Amino acid sequence: MSKKHRAYIPIVGSIAALSLSLYMKDLLKMQLTTDEKTAIYNGNIILQPNSKILAITAHPEDLALFIGGTLKHLAKRNCDITIINVTNSKKGVDLTNLTQIRQSEQTKAANRLEVKDVRFLHLPDLHLTKIKDIEPILKNILLDIKPDIIFAFDFLYPFKALKHPDHVSIGQMVHKASSVLKNTKCQIAFYASCKPNSIVDIVTTLEEKIAAVKCHQSQLRFGEDLCERGIRRFAKYSARHTLLHYGETFRLKKI
Ligand SMILES: [Zn+2]
Repeated sequence: MSKKHRAYIPIVGSIAALSLSLYMKDLLKMQLTTDEKTAIYNGNIILQPNSKILAITAHPEDLALFIGGTLKHLAKRNCDITIINVTNSKKGVDLTNLTQIRQSEQTKAANRLEVKDVRFLHLPDLHLTKIKDIEPILKNILLDIKPDIIFAFDFLYPFKALKHPDHVSIGQMVHKASSVLKNTKCQIAFYASCKPNSIVDIVTTLEEKIAAVKCHQSQLRFGEDLCERGIRRFAKYSARHTLLHYGETFRLKKI
């Protein structure tokens, strides 16, 4: 792939970037760091019933895309799930009222996944690296919710094709803020990781995941078909070193 294409991918949005990267030369380079049995065991730690879950994202569509199948499992297991959308998501496509559109898309997607608590922090897009006061906001949320599992973007080993500055900043900030939960049983499940140690079988939740991603209509630059094929291919790619058909992978880490 040319340098021009590489530079382009991070700004077309995660859904398009992911779909494209799977059709290009293995841009994700994801490799399980454990054997299959351990990865499945770790995946089951994430799926504990009746637990408190906090899923944090820079941009609305990233959650359905990376953890939609897992969130659906957790909702079915009676977990108490909160989604935090950090940015106002004003940038990306040329639409007026983009913030409101993406907020409404996220609410629809969360409904598909049976998540009721969806919050928006409305911080500016692409400026997170400059925002110093987000850490206390995140700490307050963490202390209020006291989650068992936090989902956040992997800042240490992100997918090359999706190394958006907001993704990396948010992952870093969540990791830093999570120090307030030291000495609790809380763990962070980093998503979009090149070096995952956990896998969740999403064969029974894949269709709902696809439906949730499609709720983000403003982000489907290349249409629903490519998006759907991209998601199926990604789920297959994620499970490729296991006996599972479709998976979502995480780097699970104690605080
Ligand atoms: Zn994103």
